[in-house]
Amino acid sequence: MSEEEILLPELMEKAEGIYKENFPLETSFERAIFYSWGCNIGDCAFCYMSAQPKEKDPKETKRSKESILAELVLARNLGWDIGFITGGVGIYNPDEFEEMLKLIHTAFKEKVWISLGAIPRPILERYKPYIRGIVGSTETINPQLHKIICPSKPLEPYQKMFQEAKSLGIARAMTMILGMGETKEDLLYLKDFIEKYEINKIHIYSLKPRKGTPLERGKIPSKEEQAWWIAQLRIHFPKLDIQCGVWYDRLDRLSFLLHAGANNVSNFQATKLFGTKYAEELEREVHQAGRVFKGTLTKLPSIDWDAEVDVLDLDPKLKEKIKNKLNNEYLKRIRKNKEVNLLELSS
Ligand code: SF4
Repeated sequence: MSEEEILLPELMEKAEGIYKENFPLETSFERAIFYSWGCNIGDCAFCYMSAQPKEKDPKETKRSKESILAELVLARNLGWDIGFITGGVGIYNPDEFEEMLKLIHTAFKEKVWISLGAIPRPILERYKPYIRGIVGSTETINPQLHKIICPSKPLEPYQKMFQEAKSLGIARAMTMILGMGETKEDLLYLKDFIEKYEINKIHIYSLKPRKGTPLERGKIPSKEEQAWWIAQLRIHFPKLDIQCGVWYDRLDRLSFLLHAGANNVSNFQATKLFGTKYAEELEREVHQAGRVFKGTLTKLPSIDWDAEVDVLDLDPKLKEKIKNKLNNEYLKRIRKNKEVNLLELSS
């Protein structure tokens, strides 16, 4: 057993103690809502948008308004948080996105985090009334490694955005994906960055190797590696909001990561897997960590979904489209999942 492996249990015990001093024993699911599947940058080494056909105009991958808003109505009623609204860079112009933000705010009834690339100050000012904070998709913080992983997405504009957001009183979050070549020494860079920009929240993901990307044969970091970063951050930043990304094929690490001091969980394909054995496993892992799971990924509340849309202050034609999406896509799939799950359980 390496020295690191011996030290991890102690580190986690300390981190969990700090978590308990600063947060209630609760965990939420945070849904990332995508507005497109293509990106004008499209060359980050880990990102599935980098593997989209180059001949396709990224703007043509834009998702419909009604699909996004239907998902927000669903999320609100299932008690999910919105990790952020995100998508490719350069898909919306600022006017279009401001309009979209107003609709999002109406449908979700709360402000949301947004991750849109580096946003200049005048645009931040316009978005401010509708947002809870901005997320800088920093991905990895070692400057040399960042240049290799994100050749066309430099860190500097994000650093400027964080400065501007700080002076405007807008909350700041960042992302870090483990498994792309970082070393434990990079913790120094990360700590400096969090301190300098007074980062309020961090998303700690583990690499999902994507076909067609330079990292398609990348090694998935172990749960111990992911826990090490979370525990270190919890110890150094007791009040930092730490969210852990856990894919459906790695759910058995979730309670471990919560013990290491993470607050909430994301990455789970919630609309696709609601009510399945995977969703049950996620909730079970949260309980195993001694946390209460806020919201649900397994129990569809019996509410009048059409009425939930009808009360929104939106154009009547848009409301009809939202209801159609909600009923004939999301709720239909969720109900089917639940039926299959019941059949599996009874067979
Ligand atoms: S800028 Fe963002 S969305 Fe675009 S390729 Fe890079 S990581 Fe993916």
